[in-house]
Amino acid sequence: MTLEERYLHLEETIRAYNPAADFQQIRAAFDFAVSAHAGQLRKDGSPFVTHPLAVAQILAEELRLDSESIIAALLHDTIEDTGATHAEIAKLFSPTVADLVEGVTKLTRVHYSSKEQEQMENLRKMLMAMAKDIRVILIKIADRLHNMRTMEYQTPAKQKQKSYETMEIYAPIAHRLGMQKMKWELEDLSLKYLDPVGYKEITEELEAKAAEYDGFMDLTRRQIEERLRQSHIDGVVYGRLKHPYSIYRKMYAQNKGMEDVFDLIAFRVIVDTVADCYNVLGIIHDLYHPILGRFKDYIGTPKPNMYQSLHTTVVGQGGIPFEVQIRTREMHEVAEYGVAAHWKYKQNGQGAGDEKNYEWVRRLLENQEGADAEEFIHSLKVDLFADEVFVFTPAGDVINLPAGATPIDFAYTIHSEVGNHMVAAKVNGRIVQFDHKLNNGDVVEVETSPSAHGPSRDWTKIAKSSNARSKIRQWFKKERREENVVNGKSSFEYELKRAGVTLKELTAEENLPAVLDKVGFNNLDDMYAAIGYGGVTALKLVGRLREEISRILRQHQAAPVGEPAAEEPEKPGPERYVPGSHGIVVEGIDNCLVKLAKCCTPVPGDDVVGFITRGNGVSVHRSDCPNAAPERRSGEEDGRWIRVSWADKPGGQYQTTLEVVSRDRPDLMVDISTVISSTKTQFRGLSAQIIPDGSVLVTMDVIVSDAAQLGTVMRRLEQLSGVKRVTRPAK
Ligand code: MN
Repeated sequence: MTLEERYLHLEETIRAYNPAADFQQIRAAFDFAVSAHAGQLRKDGSPFVTHPLAVAQILAEELRLDSESIIAALLHDTIEDTGATHAEIAKLFSPTVADLVEGVTKLTRVHYSSKEQEQMENLRKMLMAMAKDIRVILIKIADRLHNMRTMEYQTPAKQKQKSYETMEIYAPIAHRLGMQKMKWELEDLSLKYLDPVGYKEITEELEAKAAEYDGFMDLTRRQIEERLRQSHIDGVVYGRLKHPYSIYRKMYAQNKGMEDVFDLIAFRVIVDTVADCYNVLGIIHDLYHPILGRFKDYIGTPKPNMYQSLHTTVVGQGGIPFEVQIRTREMHEVAEYGVAAHWKYKQNGQGAGDEKNYEWVRRLLENQEGADAEEFIHSLKVDLFADEVFVFTPAGDVINLPAGATPIDFAYTIHSEVGNHMVAAKVNGRIVQFDHKLNNGDVVEVETSPSAHGPSRDWTKIAKSSNARSKIRQWFKKERREENVVNGKSSFEYELKRAGVTLKELTAEENLPAVLDKVGFNNLDDMYAAIGYGGVTALKLVGRLREEISRILRQHQAAPVGEPAAEEPEKPGPERYVPGSHGIVVEGIDNCLVKLAKCCTPVPGDDVVGFITRGNGVSVHRSDCPNAAPERRSGEEDGRWIRVSWADKPGGQYQTTLEVVSRDRPDLMVDISTVISSTKTQFRGLSAQIIPDGSVLVTMDVIVSDAAQLGTVMRRLEQLSGVKRVTRPAK
C-alpha cells in the first residue's frame, strides 16, 4: 500500500463509526506529520510517518476514538523527533491536541530502569497520574502496540528491554482500562521476544488444537445452553481457546508441560443475578465432573481489583478438561470496562460515587454501533488520581500516598520503626514541618534517631493514611498501657454518666459477666486500654451496653417491666414471587385475599394458621412461627386467628428461606449449589456470614413446589460434610 492508500484507509475506518469527524483537520495532521518526519526512516526502511499513521489506525479500529485523539496520534512523535513545538501545534490544530501530543511525549521520556515487581504498580500509576487526560494513555498504548508489532527489526537487546516494559507496564494498564484485546496482543508479542522457544511451542500446539477442539467446543456450548433453558435461566455462553501468554503463565507457575495445563479452553457464562451464578455453577457441576480444588469463588471474595466471577474447571466429553467462568452482566462489565476506577476502589475500600468518573471510559470502549464519537469526548479531563499523591524516596522508588499526605504518612509507609523514630523530615532537600503537605514528584527524606521519644498523640490527627494512624495507635497501645487505662476509664465513665448510670452500677458483680460479654473484652482494664489508645470509642461501647443500661435505669425508677410489643398489623410487602391465592383454603370464607407471611414463608404441606389482618386479607403463618404462637396472642386479637389449610393440589412455586449452619470449609458454597441443582431446585437470594462461634451461616431463598421437595433439599444439605443444622427461620 502507498502512503496515500493507507491514509485513505484510516479515513474510511473513522467514517464508518464517526461520519462527523473533522476530516479536514485529520488530513492536515497527516500532511504535517509527513513533512515533519520527511527523510526519517524506520528500522525496516519504510518512511517514519507510517508509524504515526498506524497508531492512528489502531485507535480508530480498536477504540473508535474521537478526532482530537486521531489528530494527536498522527502528531504524537513530532515534538520528540522533529522541530515541532507545543505552541505551533496549538495554533495549527488546538490547544487540546497540543496537550495530548505533549502528554505522550512526556510519557515517552520516562525511562524505567529495571525495577522490582512491587515498584511496577507504582510506576503504572505514576504514568496514569502524569497523563491527566486518559487519551494520552490510550495513544501511548497504541504507540507501544505498533512498536511491538514491528519489533522484529530491532536489536535483540532492545527487543527484550521493550518487551519487558510492555509486559510489566503497558499490558497491565491496557488490562485495567478494559482494553482486553490489546492487552492480550501486547502480552503475546512480549512473550515472543522474552521467551521465543516457549512462544513457538505454544502457538504451534494451539493451532493444532483449534481444529481438533472445534466440534467439542460447539457441543459443550450447546449442552450448557440447553440446561440453562431447562432451568429457565437467561444466560449467554461463550467458548474460546486461551491466548498463548495465559497458557504460558500457567505452565510456568505450575511447572507443567502444555499437555498438563487444564486451561486451553475456557467457557464464559453471563447471567443476570448472583443467585443465578451459583445456580449455573450447580448445573455445570451436575453436567460435568468438577476437578477437585479448582473452584474459586471471586464473587464471595472479589479480587483486589474488584474482579468478580466464579471459576471452576470440569471434565467434559472425551475427558477434555475446560474452565468455566460464571458472572453477572454487571460483573462482566466491570471486568471488561470499568477498570480505570479500580485503583480508586482499592484505595478507598469503596466505590460509591466513582461510577460517573469512569462511565465515559466504559462508553468509549463499548464501541456502540452508530454512536457519535465526538459526543463521548466532552469531559475527558478526568484526574483519576485526584485523591493520591506520588512521591520519591531518596533511592528513586515511587511511594503513593493519599492526597494531602504528610511526612508522617511517608515515614510510616516506609516502616513503622521509621515513623516511631522520626526526628526530622526533608522535602526536596529542605527541612519541613511534620504537617507539611506532599506534592506529586517530591523527594522525601526522613531522619531518625534511636533516642527519639516516639510519636505524639497529635500525629494521629495530622496523618492522612489509616495505615499511619493505626501504626501510631499501635505504638501507644504498647508503650503507654497504664496511661491508656486511666484515660480510657475516664472517658468510659463520662459516657456512662451521660447515659444516666454510674460505672459502679454497671460493673457491679452481678452485671459484670454480661457486660464483658457484650463488649467482647476479657476484663475491664483491657477495655479501658483499648479506649485509651483509640482502638474503639467509649461511645460505641456504651452503645453496645444499651440493654444493661436500660435495665439499670428501670431499677432506678422501680417501674414494672414493660409489656412485650403487640404484633403490628402487617404492611403489604413487595410483590411476592407467588401470585394468586397461594393454594390456601380459608375456612368459612371464599375469595378472600391471602398472603403468605414473610416471617416464616410457608409452603404447601406445612401446618398453617391464618390471621385476619386489618384491611389486608388473611396472612398465613406456619403454626410453628413465633408470630403465631398462642402465648403471644393478645386477648383482643385472639378472635382474628382462623383455621386455614392447603388446597388438594396447590400448584405453583413457593419461595421460602433456608438457613444452613456449617463449619467454615473450602468449597462449601459449591457443594450447596450442587445439592440444590441436583434436586432441580433453584435459589434466588444467597448470603453467607461468619457467626460468633466461627461457623458459617448461609441464608438462601429457595423455590419449591411443596414441603416434600423442601424436605429433600434440607436432608441432602444436612448430609453435607461440616453442616451442623439446616433450618427454616421464622422471625
Ligand atoms: Mn511513536
